[in-house]
Amino acid sequence: MHGIHTIDTGFGRPRFDAAYLVVERGRGAFIDSGTSHALPRFLDAITAADLAPREIDWVILTHVHLDHAGGAGELMRHLPKAMLAVHPRGARHMIDPSALIAGASAVYGEDRVRSDYGDIVPVPKDRVIEADDGFVVDLAGRALLCLDTPGHAKHHIAIHDERANAFFTGDIFGLSYREFDTDAGAFIVPTTSPVQFDPDEAHASIERMMRYEPQAMYLTHFDRVTDVKRLADDLHAQIDAMVAIARQHADTPDREDRIAAAFAEFYVERARRHGVTMAPDAIVKLLKVDIRLNAQGILVWLDRARKPPNH
Ligand SMILES: [Zn+2]
Repeated sequence: MHGIHTIDTGFGRPRFDAAYLVVERGRGAFIDSGTSHALPRFLDAITAADLAPREIDWVILTHVHLDHAGGAGELMRHLPKAMLAVHPRGARHMIDPSALIAGASAVYGEDRVRSDYGDIVPVPKDRVIEADDGFVVDLAGRALLCLDTPGHAKHHIAIHDERANAFFTGDIFGLSYREFDTDAGAFIVPTTSPVQFDPDEAHASIERMMRYEPQAMYLTHFDRVTDVKRLADDLHAQIDAMVAIARQHADTPDREDRIAAAFAEFYVERARRHGVTMAPDAIVKLLKVDIRLNAQGILVWLDRARKPPNH
């Protein structure tokens, strides 16, 4: 639809991590790159859209977390004409990815980073464009407007596609796994993962996108959702509820586990109310990684928020 093709990057599990190919009058733009393991899937998508690699003009990154951007350097090597558009705060990490690799290695360990994310190679500086707030990527006359949308990460942009009146939302419009679809539509959960989650910024970024009255949102995790107003309301309510849960357990010694358990219960309850008939265990299994990351990220924010300034 509107020349937008979903690529399942295969990261983690099927239907977990998406990237997109937008095609306009024989030219293409990728939104996000997945990891370098996904390279063959990107090359297949080019062929399936009847294009050649030299007809790809852009790779636009929503943010530089590795499930979205880890493969950008490798992908760019195969796209001779493409420029990389990325948030100004993310640009230097694409030119020199060593800090990203070190950061991920500190959390997951070096071996796992290598096996999960593959080779993370630099993008030549002269192929990187900093997408400031309001920057418009011109894809054969089709405007792709980049908006600074912090809340999940400070290096995050959402991309408004004028033609489709839709956003490519990266992780700022939550995650919605297709396994949870019911007659009531999509089921959505915010991502509050470390280390730059901020609830006020997340609320504001969601509202900023909603002012365009978008017809659809293209999420990284996973694919296109409609009924956008309901989902936005849902995200706002959940962010507030999750902050309240985190505050309630903030001073207990095993706070991360308690918050994770409370989040699990909260999402299961919401999924059941949404009409999801899966067993609670199955629901928690699909959200397991997100539950843990959400608990960790909300605590990072809470500790930052409670720290008195200048101390
Ligand atoms: Zn992500």
